[in-house]
Amino acid sequence: MLLTIRTTYEPATDLGYLLGKHPERFQTKSLAFGDAHVFYPEANEKACTAALLLEINSIKLQKNRNQQFSESFRLANYVNDRPYVASSFLSTAIAKVLGSALNGNCKDRPNLVDQAIPLEINLTSLPVRGGKEILHRLFEPLGYEVKAENSILDESFPEWGESPYYQVQLKINSPLRLVLSHLYVLIPALDNKKHYFVSEAEIQKLIEKGEEWLKDHPEKDMITKRYLRYRGSFVRSALDQLVNEEVSPQKITENQEEILEKPMNLHALRHQRVIEELKQLEVKSIIDLGCGSGKLLKQLVKERQFQKITGMDISYKSVEVAHKRLYLRDAGPKMKERVSLFHGSLTYCDQRLKGYDAAALVEVIEHLDEARLEALEKVVFQYAQPKVVAVTTPNRAYNVLFEGLPEGQLRHNDHRFEWTRAEFEEWANNVANNHGYTTQFFPLGPVDDNHGAPSQMVVFKLAE
Ligand code: SAH
Repeated sequence: MLLTIRTTYEPATDLGYLLGKHPERFQTKSLAFGDAHVFYPEANEKACTAALLLEINSIKLQKNRNQQFSESFRLANYVNDRPYVASSFLSTAIAKVLGSALNGNCKDRPNLVDQAIPLEINLTSLPVRGGKEILHRLFEPLGYEVKAENSILDESFPEWGESPYYQVQLKINSPLRLVLSHLYVLIPALDNKKHYFVSEAEIQKLIEKGEEWLKDHPEKDMITKRYLRYRGSFVRSALDQLVNEEVSPQKITENQEEILEKPMNLHALRHQRVIEELKQLEVKSIIDLGCGSGKLLKQLVKERQFQKITGMDISYKSVEVAHKRLYLRDAGPKMKERVSLFHGSLTYCDQRLKGYDAAALVEVIEHLDEARLEALEKVVFQYAQPKVVAVTTPNRAYNVLFEGLPEGQLRHNDHRFEWTRAEFEEWANNVANNHGYTTQFFPLGPVDDNHGAPSQMVVFKLAE
């Protein structure tokens, strides 16, 4: 399997710096499934070509696999197309051998990392499941000029049809790191097979590698489905995260909501009030749903009463920030057992959500489209069913009292809605009736006679 990357950017040998591989050296790296060689068939001022040659070792490959290539035909475990075609092995090799270029690290030519340069990619044999048209649909929206050729399988047996393996040439003016991220994601998507069991970690890889382009790709659904091998819950989580990624913690802190609410320290007050309520109710285990950067978790940890504390958020970045805020990396085993985090979505049943005395949703519901609240209701109140659920959300009626908030505007650009007290109560009472909970409402912040408090909380309790 051979991948070549050619540039005519001058001096073309700068490609060596970008790839972190010297044009005069032949380099080999041993990987779990064989060897990856990097060398330069051409390297001068005007044009430079780097080649990545994968030599897949079928025996090594089979030893490291936990699944059979074919159950019914044993020889196929050793004799198959994998050594000869571009597949997820090539993605692994790109990450392991050209990882610094993929991640945009280049000490010697830092300015070139984000610079668009003319690039030509050749793949000797790319399996394209679903026909050539798919190849165009995946690469062309990203700006590639695509040429692909295949042959008929056997001239003597025209009825066998065309080969699914294409010789592919891609041309583009783009930063190299982006091109590598496209190949990393799209090659396995085109091949539509994966050499390893697709675990949850793959969601994060997809989101990281596709961060800059996948969200706006017209075929993002197909790419995500194929990349994650049609594992429904993974696909939904990835798509949700791609679309929701704007809700990153950085954006939230820059947001006017914090600026508006800061003078009354409203956010800290919400957390304090949630904790007060939970303490009174003798809750021992709690899950913070939509935990964001982990501010509530940090306060919960200080209370000995809470023996099990878990945070969950749809944004992987938020989970990472929370992880740092709680110093979980260097925590001892007791702390690690007591406090944990995971990334997931509030709108899909997930057994990790079960088994807690209480759940908190602090300023979360207004970040979901109203149409998704029904799914959230099912997940939290019917599926996970904690004994206590504390939910806070802004009170829209109070917005007129915020100086600097134009009339009719919501407090946060990611808020899909903000409710008045009556609207909140209607929703909460309805949910409580549907699932056997009682409700108690609390104003949060200084109460204005006409407009109420800036924020509001409901505490649901599962009826005995
Ligand atoms: N509760 C936190 C953060 C509030 S911001 C605090 O009090 O500081 C809203 C959070 O909800 C964001 O971190 C966002 O990523 C998360 N979120 C939005 N939609 C979600 C969903 N469907 N599932 C889980 N979390 C979600």
